[in-house]
Amino acid sequence: MFARPAKLWIPLFALPGVLGGAYAGAAVPTNVTDVRLWSGPEGTRLVLDLSALPRHEVFAIENPDRVVVDLANTQLAMRKDLPAGQGPVKSVRSGPQAGGGLRIVLDLTARHAVKSFAVGPDGTAGHRIVVELPGATPSNVAPTATQVLAASSAAVAREAPSVDNPVKTLTVAADKQRDLVIAVDAGHGGQDPGAIGRGGTREKDVTLAIARKLAAAIDAEDGMRAVMIRDGDYFITLRGRVRKARELGADMFVSVHADSVPNRAVSGSSVYVLSLRGASDEASRWLAERENAADLMGGVSLDDKSDVLASVLLDVTQKEAVSNSVEAASSVLASLRRVGSVHGPRVRHAGFMVLKSPDIPSMLVETAFISNVADERRLRDSAHQQRIAQAIHAGVRDYFYEKPPPGSRIAALAAARRGGTATQTLAER
Ligand SMILES: [Zn+2]
Repeated sequence: MFARPAKLWIPLFALPGVLGGAYAGAAVPTNVTDVRLWSGPEGTRLVLDLSALPRHEVFAIENPDRVVVDLANTQLAMRKDLPAGQGPVKSVRSGPQAGGGLRIVLDLTARHAVKSFAVGPDGTAGHRIVVELPGATPSNVAPTATQVLAASSAAVAREAPSVDNPVKTLTVAADKQRDLVIAVDAGHGGQDPGAIGRGGTREKDVTLAIARKLAAAIDAEDGMRAVMIRDGDYFITLRGRVRKARELGADMFVSVHADSVPNRAVSGSSVYVLSLRGASDEASRWLAERENAADLMGGVSLDDKSDVLASVLLDVTQKEAVSNSVEAASSVLASLRRVGSVHGPRVRHAGFMVLKSPDIPSMLVETAFISNVADERRLRDSAHQQRIAQAIHAGVRDYFYEKPPPGSRIAALAAARRGGTATQTLAER
């Protein structure tokens, strides 16, 4: 899993790269107000604090191995010395350049990959240029989310002390005993009818009917609340559905469909979750959209983190989401088995776009085969729609009682069922 992020690093022996973005105006020189260096297992990071973002280049030179940061129209304006070397950095030195520029040099103990990016002002911190030398990590062993977040939290704390500890953000819910939000997505809609049965039944109509019944069942459940992604006969893009679920703060995403195959003998329900291949590709895409990625990590911006770390965070988050999805989907499949035939014994994996939330457990329920005459008839039957909706709801409920998110009402109810500490918790409510 770490082969891909490694590609993000520019090897030391690569040609100089020009880094840019918004450049400062020419006349007033930029001040370097501080130069900070630290080294740890996750890598080595140099941060230049600046009065503005100057035109700059970061590149590597061999023999001896060093990293050069050239800053146009910039001067050192620090009250202290440049930091002493540490980790792979032997020493840090600087010197003026022709034309009013400044050069900062990191002398290295050995050839090293290097990466650089600029960070704009946020909170108490101003413009920064960050130069990173990746460490020996990520290791070959996949770290747990907590381990990675803990490491990242330490890095964030050092870089921006005002940022809250992300571990805390992720594990302690903001509200006490909040309702779990289940996004119910009726497949297709508008100009997209979905599959059409031999009797003329349109998938988009039966998915909406079942989705409405499912939402009603969820709303009737203590500690849960449904949000309809589509609640009418209109079209929504697949990404739009995922986005809406996220905006509505969904804890789970359930997409309702009806399958169709040329072989009209095939019948029964199936439940799909994302295949990890799809997950991995999607993690890459999310990485490219940093703004979007920020809200995936419990509100912690990835901007200050290295690409490797950000990639690992997303990878771990999505792998967890997929593994949770499998558990939830298995629960739904078991429940569907009780109300009718299921097509195949196990949860299936596929790269459906709507399943690609990196952080929300997601499943796609093919409620039946609309291409099968008997299934099509059942799909039109309101009582059967209700049975399917109840079955999906029961599966989702069973899953959350097994694995209640901390701080949720379901967590308290689940604890009460087990005779735990819930009495007190309930009394506080
Ligand atoms: Zn469909």
